[in-house]
Amino acid sequence: MSTRPEIVLVRGDITEQDTDVIVNAANSSLLGGGGVDGAIHRKGGPAILAACRELRAGHYGRGLPTGQAVATTAGNLAARWVVHTVGPVYQGAGGDPSLLASCYREALKVADGLGARTVAFPAVSTGAYGWPMGDAARIAVEAVRHANTDVEEVRFVLFDEEAYRAFAERIHSS
Ligand code: ADP
Repeated sequence: MSTRPEIVLVRGDITEQDTDVIVNAANSSLLGGGGVDGAIHRKGGPAILAACRELRAGHYGRGLPTGQAVATTAGNLAARWVVHTVGPVYQGAGGDPSLLASCYREALKVADGLGARTVAFPAVSTGAYGWPMGDAARIAVEAVRHANTDVEEVRFVLFDEEAYRAFAERIHSS
């Protein structure tokens, strides 16, 4: 039976997490990028990119659509799997919050399918994709709180103080 996952905040680097799953803020090509994506591929080694290429050669020929999620090996990382998700772009013109919430929900669904109990998320869309941190934190925390999942711990891994504070405020204010 699913219960609400415990939410934990840490300031740190997502690639260092020993959770069953770490979530990648990928782009739809699945073939690598900067930020979290670059760090995961650098540290996880070539097995992750090889798995992503296979996905592109198969079911995801056109790439992974925004708001969806898919798993690969975690290569040399401590985690067992990387779940890749593609956040929506904000870029000053706004962005679709339901697509950002969907990233969290879909990643947890994929994690459930794998039997994962612990999942680490970065602040999806808040880097290159430009989503304002406070708003992204609100969407992320709500999506996880309302998710129907067997995952027991969701760890938000925030890279800097601003991100950590934004998530802490969201968690403690509601
Ligand atoms: P997006 O393209 O979805 O915006 P990014 O990877 O550019 O994704 O950034 C997402 C967030 O992750 C940003 O707040 C960025 O500061 C943060 N970040 C970058 N590298 C790491 C890392 N190694 N671990 C955790 N968070 C990171």
